[in-house]
Amino acid sequence: MVQTLTPPTTDSVMEIMQKMGHENLVFCQDKHSGLRAIIGIHSTVLGPALGGTRMWNYASSTEAVTDALRLSRGMSYKNSIAGLNLGGGKAVIIGDARTQKNEALLRRFGKFVESLNGKYITAEDVGMTTVDMSYIAMETKHVTGLDENLGGSGDPSPFTALGTYMGMKAAAKKLYGSDSLEGKKVSIQGAGHVGEYIIEHLSKEGAKIYVTDVYEDRLIDIAKKYKVEIVGLEEIYDLNVDIYSPCALGATVNDETLSRLKCQIIAGCANNQLKDETIHGNACLERGIIYVPDFLINSGGVINVYSEFASLPREWVVQKTERLYDMCLEVITTSVSESKNAQDVAIQIAQERIDAIANIKTRR
Ligand code: NAD
Repeated sequence: MVQTLTPPTTDSVMEIMQKMGHENLVFCQDKHSGLRAIIGIHSTVLGPALGGTRMWNYASSTEAVTDALRLSRGMSYKNSIAGLNLGGGKAVIIGDARTQKNEALLRRFGKFVESLNGKYITAEDVGMTTVDMSYIAMETKHVTGLDENLGGSGDPSPFTALGTYMGMKAAAKKLYGSDSLEGKKVSIQGAGHVGEYIIEHLSKEGAKIYVTDVYEDRLIDIAKKYKVEIVGLEEIYDLNVDIYSPCALGATVNDETLSRLKCQIIAGCANNQLKDETIHGNACLERGIIYVPDFLINSGGVINVYSEFASLPREWVVQKTERLYDMCLEVITTSVSESKNAQDVAIQIAQERIDAIANIKTRR
């Protein structure tokens, strides 16, 4: 099992795909709309590769490729551990979602998704909204997470937040013997779609909330609605808190931040929180920090998206998402009792299911 990824050069992409087990990496470019996108398909063993589309101002296409590879692999594990009949994929669009996103670009992207004939199914991720999904849906039927008015399952963020909140409570239960978060100090990095719903849960429970974001208007908006303390982008790593919740982008759990973080629990919705799984999963364990695996704790959103794909009711989504409490507790308990890092424990559970199903399929 390969868990490390150094930024790829053109020559090394195929080698990295082989090591990480990717099936496809599709580069999409259109000069008229300015679209530049990459679709990573990690595995279709359990079903079509489902994963969101992220629009981000990547500093380079290498950075975008790295993200597509890591995120699509994470989706394979997420869909597997959540017990869904879906493989793992992810798309990234290179560009500023606030200034460069438009109908033409999104519809052109939809055409590329359509050209994959259902091998990849897209959904919403960072920088995208349900309205954007409806533009993509004009060009492809392989899209989920559509607006509820269009018969879709709507914004997955409330369910991602519910699952993340469940994971936080499970970690608290393991550490403190009680899953109450009342009075616990929680720092939220990223007050976006999911971050805000997490803040709502924590506010209702009476946690002390610290929040940061790159966009000041988001923070002003949040501070008007909830009792939170706004902190600086860097300051968040130095706070004296019980729980650090990464809810922005990945790789924020690394050598530098771990030397500063004072929390006992890391539980957030961001994908790929550990900069290097082989190093930083163990580093959390050695420091006595309970790290709740990202692809498990944040699987509520894809559970909701799957309900649209498989025509399942809202109650199913809520129950399955709430069950993440037990699943997180089980992984954390195994991690502590076997002194094995939690990310590896969760990957093993996910990989075992993929291998078992692959075995059935080859024997057909
Ligand atoms: P979003 O774009 O709505 O919010 C992300 C927020 O993080 C933005 O407000 C952005 O300004 C902020 N941000 C970016 N860099 C930051 C930094 N360095 N410091 C502080 N804030 C920063 O995205 P979202 O939908 O809320 O998703 C958040 C994370 O959760 C992402 O990693 C996403 O992949 C993951 N996730 C989301 C869902 C979902 O249902 N939306 C599901 C699973 C995983």
